[in-house]
Amino acid sequence: GCRGAHCSPACDCGRFIEVWNLVFTQYNRLENATLEPLPKKNIDTGMGLERLAAVMQGVRNNFETDLFKPLVCEIVRSSENEVTSKENVFAVADHIRAIVFAIYDGVLPSNEGRGYVVRKIIRKSSLHLKSLGIKKPFLYKMVPVLSELMQKPYPELKKRRENISEIILAEEKSFINTLETSDSLLKERFTPGISAWQAGKLAFELYDTYGLPLELTMDWLDKHKIKFSKEAFDQELKAQKERSKSQSAMKGDVFDLKGLGLAAGETKFTGYKDYQTKSKIIKILKASKDVSEISEGENAKVILKNSCFYGESGGQVGDSGELINGNNIFRVLDAKKIGKNILHIGRVNQGKFKIGDEVKAIIDAKRRLDIARNHTATHLLQAALRKVLGEHVQQQGSLVAGDKLRFDFTHFKDISQPELERIEEIINEYIAKNFSLTVEEKELSEAKKEGALAFFGEKYEDKVRMVSIGDFSKELCGGTHLNSTGEIGIFRIIHEGSVARGIRRIEAVTGEVAYKMVKHQEKTLGEVSRMLNTTPENALNALEDNLSKLKRVGKKLDSQMIEGLRASIEEIVKEAQILDGISLVYKELGGLGMDLLRKTVDLVKQKVKNCVICFTARQSGRALLVMGVTDDLVQKGFDASKIISQIAQSIGGKGGGRKDFAQAGSQAPESFNTVFEKLREVVRQIK
Ligand SMILES: [Zn+2]
Ligand SMILES: [Zn+2]
Repeated sequence: GCRGAHCSPACDCGRFIEVWNLVFTQYNRLENATLEPLPKKNIDTGMGLERLAAVMQGVRNNFETDLFKPLVCEIVRSSENEVTSKENVFAVADHIRAIVFAIYDGVLPSNEGRGYVVRKIIRKSSLHLKSLGIKKPFLYKMVPVLSELMQKPYPELKKRRENISEIILAEEKSFINTLETSDSLLKERFTPGISAWQAGKLAFELYDTYGLPLELTMDWLDKHKIKFSKEAFDQELKAQKERSKSQSAMKGDVFDLKGLGLAAGETKFTGYKDYQTKSKIIKILKASKDVSEISEGENAKVILKNSCFYGESGGQVGDSGELINGNNIFRVLDAKKIGKNILHIGRVNQGKFKIGDEVKAIIDAKRRLDIARNHTATHLLQAALRKVLGEHVQQQGSLVAGDKLRFDFTHFKDISQPELERIEEIINEYIAKNFSLTVEEKELSEAKKEGALAFFGEKYEDKVRMVSIGDFSKELCGGTHLNSTGEIGIFRIIHEGSVARGIRRIEAVTGEVAYKMVKHQEKTLGEVSRMLNTTPENALNALEDNLSKLKRVGKKLDSQMIEGLRASIEEIVKEAQILDGISLVYKELGGLGMDLLRKTVDLVKQKVKNCVICFTARQSGRALLVMGVTDDLVQKGFDASKIISQIAQSIGGKGGGRKDFAQAGSQAPESFNTVFEKLREVVRQIK
């Protein structure tokens, strides 16, 4: 310690460390500083797991406990420089845990929200590692060490370590690359003569988008004698912080019931079993304002005491249907869940409605069933994906509508065609086996213990709804489902692709939509085989035969045309115009394709010296233009690609190529008559 006379636990010399603190809340301090005893006194206790572990294991700090030691050792072992201060090492050991568990929970590095936090921690760690002399990607190697360390509480982590490693590696690579190429980036962005204020703002932009550390930018600016305003940088930083604050405040607003003028009552949802129900109107909103009555033609949002309408949530779209009171009909186009209320959004088709009216709420049952097919299929899809691709697959988002479903999930590689086919096949097997679904209310902790999959984007209450299918699918889910998988009918994947780094998307259809799609494809195949004069079974062979026949005929035709051209070359060359000793050969060649145009240019080149050749042709509504320059002219500085780009401009097209040959295309073949004039003009200018 400091050996001072007043050394006490309040001293910050390091002699005392806080292990556990207890706050005894006893009084309420009034404004006039008198202490009023609290009616209920309590003790607030704060203990850090790592701190306590350090005490129990008799070590001096968190990083020497068995929770961190293997990580720390690994970093020290790999460090190129001698580790004098351990701060960098400790920081990385701490960060890697945060990074891995964030990704484990489904938060991937990105430029927004939580994803941006993960990205920033990875970048920070890279910088710490850099100052330890570790300049190559390294963090990703820590994932196996950490998963070993966390084996007991998080056995799942081990199964997903490769996927998490890959995500971190890609992120490290891209950041290290940014650092390595920062010189050219800085040179490109900081133009000479930039003001100090502008430089400060730009430094922030580079920091924000590329993660370029301020110190690095400042060093570079210093070296290049560019003035820099720290004030401008700080101002931008502050503005950005406020932006993200107001953004998250806005998100909260959407769910702010008071903002919508709603009382915080609860709409009781009865739609898991019922497709219609008797209820009572308790609130009507018109353009977000409370009203007591609405009449024919008016749009409104209606809140009922209880409702069988599913309000859009958890990726599942809202129900549609009708609210009926005698002859009065309110058409519900969509239902949304706001807080604990269900909003029936639509318009009065007939009559009028007022608060207190008794209504019969009826949902569109066919659409509900279509949605249920897609929702149950989404659960099957998640199970099949985990079976085929691995348990690293985690839901990132979903859309369950009446006509299709969409499922986004973590997976770092492309999905091969056989994998995709296997996934579809497994789901159709699940459907054929007609597994029944069971729905149970459970404690959240219990459901998790049973291995139920939760979606990280969702907030769960203590009591959760668990939907199970067979023994292969358990998900926490509030959506509406089928009774058994057989009701899905058919499942077909219609699209697979990447939506962001490490996130893939599958779109699929089920039931009637899938059936209609198959029928449509069958019809197309039928028409194709009729045109080929064969049966659908033989259509493929017949098509191949036809195509190769076509190719042979095409080749023959081409060679015949070349023969014909060869004969007419003499003619074309004879028509050449001489301009200051240069031959200009120009001709419109009807419907010749690009290949033949090129060959014709070659044929002319063999016959004439000092020659600029230009041919035009029309093909399926497009204008083609080719330009050849003989070698002797190329050596004198003529450039076919330059000439053609000037001419192409005059006919509203684009072109390019080499010095001896170039080509161009345009949508307007009618402007050919100006081409030759333009050619003369351009060539004259070159002379
Ligand atoms: Zn002290
Ligand atoms: Zn679900």
